[in-house]
Amino acid sequence: MTDAVLVVNSGSTSLKFGAYGTSNVEDPPLLCRGGVDSMAGDPHFIAKEPDGKPIDAHEWGSGHALSHKEALGYIVQWLEQHEANIKVVAAGHRVVLGGTRFEGPAKITPEVLDYLDGLSAMEPSHQPFNVRGARAIAEAFPGLPQVAVFDTSFHRTMPEVAQIYALPKAVRDTGVRHWGYHGISYDYISRQVPKVAPGARRVIVAHLGGGASVCAMLDGRSVETSMAFAGLTGLPMATRSGDVPADVIFYLLRSAGYTAEALEKLLYGQSGLLGLSGDSADMRVLQDSAAADDKLAVDYFVTSLVKFIGAYAAVLGGLDALVFTAGIGENSAKVRAAVLERLSTFGLTLDPAANAANGPRITTADSAVAAFVIPTNEELMIAQHTLALTRSA
Ligand code: ADP
Repeated sequence: MTDAVLVVNSGSTSLKFGAYGTSNVEDPPLLCRGGVDSMAGDPHFIAKEPDGKPIDAHEWGSGHALSHKEALGYIVQWLEQHEANIKVVAAGHRVVLGGTRFEGPAKITPEVLDYLDGLSAMEPSHQPFNVRGARAIAEAFPGLPQVAVFDTSFHRTMPEVAQIYALPKAVRDTGVRHWGYHGISYDYISRQVPKVAPGARRVIVAHLGGGASVCAMLDGRSVETSMAFAGLTGLPMATRSGDVPADVIFYLLRSAGYTAEALEKLLYGQSGLLGLSGDSADMRVLQDSAAADDKLAVDYFVTSLVKFIGAYAAVLGGLDALVFTAGIGENSAKVRAAVLERLSTFGLTLDPAANAANGPRITTADSAVAAFVIPTNEELMIAQHTLALTRSA
């Protein structure tokens, strides 16, 4: 019998899971991963080996709907029956918002879930569904220890000025704060940086995936980050706009016939790389395209990154290391090269061959500032925190 931690990323109509062994708290081994998609009408389950080889699949058929409780019940039962004697001993959840209360991972209780659900109005795209996943497990497996690991808590170390907006106190007191996101990824990267760049104190990390943000870290702690209140702003992303001035939003609401719902759809789902290019949200397509609008999208993305990195280097009082991570950061040599070329004034000298090979170090040996590619692993970070918190119980 192998004890396992179940890592859950619960969305509105899909669930992702990873099962990790408990033998090594520092580096829990991945046993398998998978998920259930299209839970609202055509659910299908898939499980894969750590190397991506399919192990099993199941379909319920179109017209069938699965609740979160049913889908998670199926996953746990499948793990315990199909996968070489796994016993699920704890569950760790990705939860986007930890609010002002949580500066690190937290053990889940009914009261904690009520608090986290109370934050859903601020971040309706993920938060209510993250909470729903944890509630479903609490109902289906009462007594199973559960831990919430937050995207925001890594950024609670930012100075107060980086966590607020220039709004009246009464508004700030309602919870309108610069929360910062991708914190589970930044937490993971902050633990990898000393391995490749010992002694680097002033580090900027660019998490460039479907969602994208930049984080300035001093001694491994967040001091500034670009993604703000509900994951819309900062860098342009696959379909999210990134920074758009608030006065543009007033104009669209007042004079261009937009409702709040239509505006939300525009800014979250039709903007960013997709909005600029008009044809694709995928950097793999855009970076190799000769079409003018595709080039514009890549240029806007790179320019935004350069602006944030320059600003954050100033905030940090200099730069010791720059790190690229997530889908674009780990795989797009073209984006990394374009960014580094424009940052040569900061002492970054690209090593084209190392960059083409995706690093790990992509600057020359004599580059004053080093840049790296470090693959992120949010799921492993959640497994580690869950094990640490449930072991200490
Ligand atoms: P998510 O934020 O959804 O977890 P990922 O971190 O997997 O996303 O990143 C998705 C993004 O990574 C997509 O825009 C995709 O185009 C980009 N990407 C993946 N592979 C490459 C590649 N080889 N070159 C450029 N971009 C890539």
